[in-house]
Amino acid sequence: MDGSSDVLVIGGGIIGLTTAWQLAQRGVSVTVLEHGRCGQAASRAALGALWPPPMARGGALQQLHRQSLWGYEDFIQSLQAASGLHVHYQRRGKVELLNSTEAFRTATEQCDAANTSWPALGDKPVMELLTGTQIRQYEPHISDAPHGAHLCRWSGQVNVDQLLEALITACIRCGVRIVEGVRIDHLESDSTRAVAAHAGGQKFLAENFVLCAGIGLPTITCQHELSPPITPVKGQALLLRVRKEVLTHIVKNGMIFLVPWQDGRILVGSTTEPEAGFDTTNTAEGVQFLLQGATQIAPALKAAAVERVWAGLRPTGPKHRPVMGKSPAFDNAFVCAGHFKIGIGLAPLAGKFMAELITTGRAEPGMEAFAFTGNAQ
Ligand SMILES: Cc1cc2nc3c(=O)[nH]c(=O)nc-3n(C[C@H](O)[C@H](O)[C@H](O)COP(=O)(O)OP(=O)(O)OC[C@H]3O[C@@H](n4cnc5c(N)ncnc54)[C@H](O)[C@@H]3O)c2cc1C
Repeated sequence: MDGSSDVLVIGGGIIGLTTAWQLAQRGVSVTVLEHGRCGQAASRAALGALWPPPMARGGALQQLHRQSLWGYEDFIQSLQAASGLHVHYQRRGKVELLNSTEAFRTATEQCDAANTSWPALGDKPVMELLTGTQIRQYEPHISDAPHGAHLCRWSGQVNVDQLLEALITACIRCGVRIVEGVRIDHLESDSTRAVAAHAGGQKFLAENFVLCAGIGLPTITCQHELSPPITPVKGQALLLRVRKEVLTHIVKNGMIFLVPWQDGRILVGSTTEPEAGFDTTNTAEGVQFLLQGATQIAPALKAAAVERVWAGLRPTGPKHRPVMGKSPAFDNAFVCAGHFKIGIGLAPLAGKFMAELITTGRAEPGMEAFAFTGNAQ
């Protein structure tokens, strides 16, 4: 039997680590239990692209995402101070190519809405429309964009490897105990409370339990219902290297997006393959889709070196929405999982709101939209 903690966080991805760090900053004694190495799963596969959803998409998830991104720079600064490590975060802006006159019309409305309601960034509009000629002033290597583009200056990127290392270090410096190589298979409970997490012969006691195990969540059994099914959605991605700068902004065209870094790397994302289940192979079709999409945006990329290809499994909640809140079974078990394609962007606010809920018992306004009330709901 292992010593007891105030809170056991099960799963050491971006969501579990952020939640653990936020809890530890509130004076809570926290243990993170991670199946393999922290960050090894979906989080390490992410490209670190951060762009706010357009105003036309006005649901609770979109609002939470935008709010999380408005605070990202502050989050990174606090993390750097707490960890003593550098985390590269940059708001490069995103040029998103528009594929029809209808898309241009919708983008006009989106720009107006963003410019009146999003936080300002200097004296330039946060979003603006670009004609084909204007696009080339910003991005001379883009091939053809007959319907123009919009430029979103709030979009940015974070170095995910650095982010995860800094979170692990900040957690340890704050007193979080991280135990790697432990796969929780069972949550023990009495009639009213969760009492221990089991991993093979090991037993971990705690006052509270937070399930942040991503696609591993459904494998954790319990006498009571803990969480909805979190399913995997495979995404393939690749890394190109160029000798001289080809792009200065993030560029998006349909499903394909390119994230350039100053050191000549360009990340290319990503496929969306719900039918692939737990398979993480890179397929010829997937890689071809990414390469074709990337070189169609900027033909100069045909000369780029392909440095790495990989695939990850995005933990996905029902209707592509995360589940965040108290488990329906017990007052002392919580779930935070299923952040699909935007977990890196949502993590700062998701972790903060979970820590508030666990320490005060109060859900932040808007969080009820992510509550899980049972599979029979
Ligand atoms: C190709 C790709 C590109 C992406 N790009 C972006 C992007 O640009 N921007 C963005 O915001 N998001 C992006 N995402 C999404 C993002 O990666 C996820 O939303 C996020 O990583 C989810 O974090 P998590 O902590 O919930 O899950 P995970 O990172 O999967 O962490 C869950 C952890 O729990 C552990 N675990 C599982 N079962 C158990 C168990 N029984 N006991 C103990 N531990 C367990 C796992 O080992 C894992 O480390 C991308 C995803 C992919 C695949």
